[in-house]
Amino acid sequence: MIKIGITGGIGSGKSTVCKVFELLGVPVYYADNAAKELLENDSDVKDKIVTVFGREALDEKNAIDKKRLAAIVFNDKPKLEQLNAIVHPAVANNFNAWQKQNYTAPYLVKEAAILFESGAYKGVDRVITVVAPLEIKIARVMQRDKVDREQVEQRIKSQLSDEEKIERSQYVIYNDEQALLIPQIIKIHNELLLLHQA
Ligand code: ATP
Repeated sequence: MIKIGITGGIGSGKSTVCKVFELLGVPVYYADNAAKELLENDSDVKDKIVTVFGREALDEKNAIDKKRLAAIVFNDKPKLEQLNAIVHPAVANNFNAWQKQNYTAPYLVKEAAILFESGAYKGVDRVITVVAPLEIKIARVMQRDKVDREQVEQRIKSQLSDEEKIERSQYVIYNDEQALLIPQIIKIHNELLLLHQA
């Protein structure tokens, strides 16, 4: 089973690219969504978070308050590492269970914004990085999330640079609204199918 990681900066178009892979019949695991889902619904994750961060990480309904948690770990590296030490292994376990359910596919895709930063790249065979020019990424995220330019720039600054991601990837997809997107995806898809047959 070939495992492909897809990463890219905020607003680069990772999820958009993954939707095309899904249309081609490829199973896609969305790690960022899975992390949110586990924070909301996994009692083991919740218990560990309360042990480490206390009840201030909970909202009035006793559920994990993701905004409060984000504020607690913002600019606090040790606390962020503690949070990651709870969430990343939970996502890795969840991904393992998911991939067992999809074992007949020629290859699987795992989408993760922080594929390199989280260490998840070690669990995939190849990495695709999706890139787009800075101004396009900023405009997309401002429009999609209704946030201001400064907030987007701050999020971009906290991520690995595109150059570093490209250097560590086997494939790059340019989602710059100039190069056609779908032919780039189909080319990689065909190469991966050939790899599977080899
Ligand atoms: P994030 O890391 O924030 O989740 P992402 O890399 O997954 O972002 P998407 O959500 O796929 O990015 O794209 C960001 C926004 O830009 C979305 O609203 C999407 O519809 C739009 N978008 C992406 N690619 C294109 C494109 N080629 N043309 C027009 N709009 C696009």
